[in-house]
Amino acid sequence: MVQFDKDGRLIIPITKRGKDKDKDKNAKYVIKKAYCPNGCNIIDVNHPINGFPGLRIKYKRPGVEGELVLSAIEGDFDKIILSGSLEEGVKDELYCPHCGEMFKKLVSCNCKEDADMVIIGLTPHLDFNNAITFCNVTGCHNGSYVKSGDILRHIRLKEGF
Ligand SMILES: [Zn+2]
Ligand SMILES: [Zn+2]
Repeated sequence: MVQFDKDGRLIIPITKRGKDKDKDKNAKYVIKKAYCPNGCNIIDVNHPINGFPGLRIKYKRPGVEGELVLSAIEGDFDKIILSGSLEEGVKDELYCPHCGEMFKKLVSCNCKEDADMVIIGLTPHLDFNNAITFCNVTGCHNGSYVKSGDILRHIRLKEGF
């Protein structure tokens, strides 16, 4: 069964893992809409990953630049590298592939000294309460598809603010 939540995100109930009594805990979000800070739509229908159009992003680090497509499925770190190459444990700056605007950063990630949690809005006008966030270091799986406001609270609690 396929359903959309109130933000227009597609919910796929995951039934593989045993106890399915609590539907919410077994559902994964799929991003259907994602935008750069200037409002460009970055969903790439030409590059589906695991059955869903991915999020197209331009990346740069000293000496390397390219484009990649991220999976739109929560917790799925599959990606398609369209050009350039990624290096495990190395940070990239992330930009809109259409207008070149850099994606905003929310907070630091604790995996590396200079790592950032990049934020991508699910609405054309960036709303921190309706966004996804993930670390810009290749191989770091910190991030979440839940609302960023929740993430901020979570991180503050963890760091004892
Ligand atoms: Zn843009
Ligand atoms: Zn990280």
